Amino acid sequence: MIAEKMKPLVQNNSAIRAMFEEGRRLAGIYGAENVYDFSLGNPNVPAPKAIKTAIMDILNEEESTFVHGYMSNAGYEDVRAAIADELNERFQTAFHPENLIMTVGAASGLNIVLKTLLNPGDEVITFAPYFLEYNSYVRNYDGILTAIAPNTDTFQPDLKAFAQAIGEKTKAVIINSPNNPTGVVYSRETISHLGEILREKSREVGHAIVLISDEPYRELAYDGVFVPFVTKYYENTIICYSYSKSLSLPGERIGYVLIPDEVEDSKEVIQAAVIANRVSGSVNAPSLIQRVIRRCVHERANIEAYEKNRNLLYSSLVKFGFSCIKPEGAFYLFVKSPMADEKAFCELCKKHHVLVVPGSSFACAGYVRISYCVSYEQIERSLPAFEKIAGECGL
Ligand code: PLP
Repeated sequence: MIAEKMKPLVQNNSAIRAMFEEGRRLAGIYGAENVYDFSLGNPNVPAPKAIKTAIMDILNEEESTFVHGYMSNAGYEDVRAAIADELNERFQTAFHPENLIMTVGAASGLNIVLKTLLNPGDEVITFAPYFLEYNSYVRNYDGILTAIAPNTDTFQPDLKAFAQAIGEKTKAVIINSPNNPTGVVYSRETISHLGEILREKSREVGHAIVLISDEPYRELAYDGVFVPFVTKYYENTIICYSYSKSLSLPGERIGYVLIPDEVEDSKEVIQAAVIANRVSGSVNAPSLIQRVIRRCVHERANIEAYEKNRNLLYSSLVKFGFSCIKPEGAFYLFVKSPMADEKAFCELCKKHHVLVVPGSSFACAGYVRISYCVSYEQIERSLPAFEKIAGECGL
């Protein structure tokens, strides 16, 4: 019965989800406190109190047919104006509401942008390791995703290989920084160099190559690290932002697409993206939570908890002999597997009730991802297990 295009998706149904289910099974047997689940990127820091207050105030103060009604497919204009103002204040930009389209999270934003841009057979480039859902998103519009092999010394993109991979069919590039799964933040030099390459290659191939910046982790950066605002480095940049992590609202499904005026044919692109939002079936982003965003544009989840988690987990793993880049953002550690086959290493971890995700789930075998958006206590309790695992691997 099911479509051919769906069959590989059903077959390869997410390893991360499978690990999560395994965690629940183990918790049922050994008790939740004896299972250390580091598999999912589900924020454990609560949403700011201001979110709940805003929901209550909206329901009390704003007219219900308005709050729960349809609006422009791009989203409420006052919501987009509030976001544009906040961005302009922070990044000295000059965005206006028309540059923004409210979306059902970054996942929907990426789909809308790819639907807007891709003809069948168009190529999209990304950098391994990457969020594997990009494969499905690109395939949704009959595009072809190519991944540049990782530079495992720094996990900054390999720009030399990137420049060589661009061809006539290249329509877009997807980057994600702070990165899932490495936690690496792409530096100013990286983004600036990337912009130069894209400018030059766009001229060479005779059409604009669009840089799609997938930014669910933009606000999750530590040690005061600089996170470049990508539209400033390359004119044909489109941002897909999400409040899933910055406000701990992943289930509410809210984010936006930002298409600056500097993008080639921006008016046409914006118009097409608004229509893509409608015909993809979302129609518009959820209404109540859009109104909440208008009141909460300056709010952030408490990322200090993640930073504290990162510090404890990173320093402990390094002490036990594991090797790993110190992440500067997001809430993931990407640890080198001490066993050649990282899936076998994940199995060994599971024997100690530690659940981590194989790097092959991010097109980067030989590593595992550890999500530290968990309680500090879980990390503390898991440390003896990590120490034993290190011992069994001869570290
Ligand atoms: N992009 C990356 C890199 C992610 O890690 C995620 C979610 O974890 C998404 C996109 C999707 O985010 P959203 O919940 O906003 O759809």
